[in-house]
Order: sequence, then structure tokens, then C-alpha cells
Amino acid sequence: MATLTAKHALVTGGGSGIGLAIARALAEAGAEVTITGRRREVLDEAAQGQPGLHPLIMDVTDEASVAEGIAAARAAHGPIAICVANAGIAEGRSLAKTSLEFWRQIMATNLDGAFLTIRECLPDMLAADWGRVIAMSSVAGLKGLKGAPAYTASKHGVIGLIRSLSEDHLGTGVTFNAICPGYVDTPIVARNIDSIAARIGGDRDKALAIMVGSNRHKRLLEPEEISAAAMWLVGPGSQSVNGQTIEIAGGQM
Ligand code: NDP
Repeated sequence: MATLTAKHALVTGGGSGIGLAIARALAEAGAEVTITGRRREVLDEAAQGQPGLHPLIMDVTDEASVAEGIAAARAAHGPIAICVANAGIAEGRSLAKTSLEFWRQIMATNLDGAFLTIRECLPDMLAADWGRVIAMSSVAGLKGLKGAPAYTASKHGVIGLIRSLSEDHLGTGVTFNAICPGYVDTPIVARNIDSIAARIGGDRDKALAIMVGSNRHKRLLEPEEISAAAMWLVGPGSQSVNGQTIEIAGGQM
């Protein structure tokens, strides 16, 4: 396991789901972990009784909030060494039902959010000549997800961002990688079951079966299966892994 004592990690969307699993694993390895989100109660509950987790209200769609939030985190726990750009929203809507407002909301959270967060954290890592940037993409970043053009485009964008940054910073001690999960058992998936169910006549069991059925192991993934990959990416064995995508999806079709 990676030893991260005295390293400061920042995990956006760290109060729930995949982000919380990653934050807990980082803290167990010794890091001081700033967990961010928009809901105070969710962050406080996540941090309660968990040494090393530090809640921070920060809206990743808001440039000033990201700049101020990360400055405050840095002042409290030191320069950021590990940046996990994980915050995201997901909703499937056909193109005909995709308003410009909905499109922009998805892009603002999933793509602008990753860009703003990484831009703000990166100078610390370059100054230290060591850093790990991990962005949460999706299998929808690697292929077209049916009925979700905005989400799919945003997650493809995250991978493009990571690939370009890895090229720009070759030769430094900073690596940039994206994780591409299939369906993971988190609050996002619970909400998506409802939106799929609405498309197919309200049957939640059928909606869940569609998600589970797309995984060849016929189950939702656990958040800890995603945090395991993140922990490998921050550990010593992955220092030559850069600009890559790691698909964890049970062979999702
Ligand atoms: P969650 O809903 O549990 O996590 C999403 C997190 O993002 C929440 O903690 C939420 O906190 C935060 N967030 C959303 N909008 C904003 C915002 N504007 N500013 C700051 N934080 C925000 O679901 P997951 O853990 O599943 O999702 C984590 C990531 O994994 C997402 O990027 C998602 O797209 C990706 N993913 C998930 C998959 C899955 O099946 N679960 C599959 C593939 C990818 P708050 O609302 O308090 O702000």
C-alpha cells in the first residue's frame, strides 16, 4: 500500500460514493484529505469519526469558489500533492430533450469542474516536482452511452484534458490519469435508476436490471473497486503510468 504520510490530497465530490471511498483510502494511507462538495451536512457526516478527512464547501462550477476553496485548503493542510477531480453529475437525456441549459449544467460540473480544480492544484505539484492527478471519467468517456449525449461528451472531454496535460508535463514528477468506471453502487446510480425507469414506463426493477445486465459479472461495482485503482495510481508502482485511462467496468457492454 502507498504511504502518504504528510501528503495533502484533495478529492472533489469527496463526501459521497466513489469520492468518499477514495478519500477514506487516502486517509488510511496517512494523507490529510480535503473532501469537497456543496452540501455541508453530507461532508460533515462523511468526515465524522474519520481522522484525516477535512470537509470544504466548494462548487466546482464556480471559478471563484474553486480558487478560494483550494487556497483555504492549502493554507490549512499544505500544498496539494494529490488531486482527484471526481465531482460529477449524471443524467441521461436524448438529444431532443437536451436543452442548452441542461447541456451546460453537465459540462460545467463534469468538464469545467475538472479543468478548474486541476488548474488550481497543479502549481503545487509542479513546485514539488511530484504529484498525482486523477480524473473520474466513465466508460461513457470511452464509448457512446445510449441516451446520454451530454454526459458522454463531458466524460470524453475529461479524458482529452488528462491526455493533453500528460503530454504538456512529461519529464516532471506529475502524472495525469483517468479512471473509467462502469455502473457503481452510489447515489448517482440510484438517481439514474429513476431516470431510466421513467424512460421505460416507471419499472425500477427493470431499470436496475438494465444497468446490472450491462456488466458481464451481472452486478453493480462497489466504490472500493474504484478506490483500489486510485490507490495504485498514487503508489510507487505506477510512476510510469501517465495519460492513461483505466476502465473498471466488469467488461461493460
Ligand atoms: P455521487 O453522487 O455520490 O458523487 C458525486 C459527487 O459530486 C457528490 O459528492 C456531489 O456533492 C459532488 N458534486 C456534484 N456537483 C458538484 C458541484 N457543482 N460542485 C462540487 N461538488 C459537486 O456519485 P458517484 O460517486 O457515483 O460519482 C462520482 C464520479 O464518478 C462522478 O464524476 C460520476 O460521473 C463518476 N462515475 C460514476 C459512475 C457510477 O456508476 N456511480 C460510473 C462512471 C463514472 P454535492 O452534491 O454535495 O455537491
